[in-house]
Amino acid sequence: MTTADNSPRATAQELERAILRMLRDTDVAIGAGSICAGLRDAGHEISEATVGRLLRELDRRGLTSRDSNRGRVLSAAGVARLRELDDSHARTASGARVAQALDPRTLREVIDFVYVRRGLEREAARLAAIRATEDDIAHLLALVAAQEAADHDDWEHGWAFHEAVAAASHNEAVISLFAMFSDTQEAVGRLSHDADPAHEDRRCRHHEQIVAAIAAHDPDAAEEHMMEHLTEVVVGFEQALHGAAAELEPPLTRDAP
Ligand SMILES: [Zn+2]
Repeated sequence: MTTADNSPRATAQELERAILRMLRDTDVAIGAGSICAGLRDAGHEISEATVGRLLRELDRRGLTSRDSNRGRVLSAAGVARLRELDDSHARTASGARVAQALDPRTLREVIDFVYVRRGLEREAARLAAIRATEDDIAHLLALVAAQEAADHDDWEHGWAFHEAVAAASHNEAVISLFAMFSDTQEAVGRLSHDADPAHEDRRCRHHEQIVAAIAAHDPDAAEEHMMEHLTEVVVGFEQALHGAAAELEPPLTRDAP
């Protein structure tokens, strides 16, 4: 068994979890020899002496106890510790899945991603309408003006606008989740332009409507315009996917860094 993280700490935790799981899964007390064999079966290169040392450490921490001479059993504290390690393991695994989902390579993955963005950004727009400061509003207006002055197929201006709406929400969860999306902006921007260049003009108009609603501190209107905007993006992608699927295979690859 290998761990994604090769730091000594992660390895020690992985071993601790493997030992505690083995003790939980057996009805009888087991000794260092059996635990060592089990760990080796699971791919850990480990000596019986090391296992003995780890077990004494677990005893000292109250996670395991000796059952006469037959071996160890898990204590109540050991059961609780194992639950904690299992939870942390599950979080690491789901974090890796999220990271993969946030690295869209095909139009289908980009569409999935924009649906999630829409859910987050409708809330961001509402909160921005409630909490935006005068400075936030001035910044948003300047970005809309810059986007209008620029080439309309310049997706970077569009992204900056969405980032500024997230920032104007003054909600740390929204801001940090949105920041996780920033690595995907190039793939989304390119695909969005390829899918339907004419959308750019309508997007600009949507941005104007969103910022007007935020400036008027009207959360319902801000949410509605953001939904309308990102729904149009998704629909454009869906049409591109179903209308020109042949051109989208093989999956889009990104430039090497
Ligand atoms: Zn936009």
